[in-house]
Amino acid sequence: MSPRVCWVIGSPVEHSLSPVIHNAAFAALDLDWTYFAVAVPEGRAADAVAAMRSLRLGGMSVTMPHKSAVAGAVDTITPRAERLGAVNCLSWRGAGIEGDSTDGAGFLDSLLVDHGWDPAGRRALVVGAGGAARAVVAALADAGAASITVANRHAGRAARAAALADGRGAVASVDAAADVDLVVNATPVGMAGDTASPVPAERLGAGQVVVDLVYDPIETPLLGAARAQGAMPVNGIGMLVHQAAHAFRAWTGEDPPVEVMSAAVVASLSHH
Ligand code: NAP
Repeated sequence: MSPRVCWVIGSPVEHSLSPVIHNAAFAALDLDWTYFAVAVPEGRAADAVAAMRSLRLGGMSVTMPHKSAVAGAVDTITPRAERLGAVNCLSWRGAGIEGDSTDGAGFLDSLLVDHGWDPAGRRALVVGAGGAARAVVAALADAGAASITVANRHAGRAARAAALADGRGAVASVDAAADVDLVVNATPVGMAGDTASPVPAERLGAGQVVVDLVYDPIETPLLGAARAQGAMPVNGIGMLVHQAAHAFRAWTGEDPPVEVMSAAVVASLSHH
């Protein structure tokens, strides 16, 4: 395969783990590909898409604040990205550039592939209603979850996220955690330096799966509480790695070396 270059665009982008993940995967497969983080200011997403075209980049990841803006600059958009109004991955489809959203598929893989846990027929609570929460709600609906309840600080945003659940959505408080099989934190609560848990520990219990999309620290206050209450804790590294794995496959056509990618994230997080 000829040498190719991929970018992740964002602002800020220097703390993105995507270069670590993809460069580890390229090296493991002996591909002459390189992945760079490129700072692109707000309002200039279309210029970055034009650069992908003129430079024939191998692919592009998209992060804040460009996830909506790039959707208007690509040639085609996948139905799942259109439904979310957000694009995080650009790939070549013939001569055109396609915008996709791989976060929801990455989330489902972290449950199904990593833990053999199928959300079909299960009740879920998603805490948060931002971009990550919306991708998770839509993915759980597609995977056949019985109900998807959203709890969020701003109730209007919770209702808009719950509307992505194909008629199986509802809005409630985090206390609804006691009544579900799956709890997902999609807020930044519990990130490094924050000792708060987004869900009261006493609402968690045995038989539940508790996912924290926050991956730094790897063991968050929520995951500690889940473990102490007898629930199964799932950290955010799985979603991060599997969404990248979907991009890797779309760009290179190769099977992604998921274990290598995951180890690269863990090594990077434990070095800072
Ligand atoms: P976002 O679009 O900015 O949404 C943030 C959400 O968190 C909003 O619903 C917001 O509530 C809520 N929130 C923020 N601060 C809060 C607080 N102090 N208390 C309660 N709720 C709070 O962000 P995002 O892109 O969805 O990302 C959310 C988290 O998921 C981040 O920590 C991010 O690192 C993580 N994430 C992880 C992965 C992964 O692969 N593991 C992927 C994507 C995101 P309001 O609506 O009320 O403002």
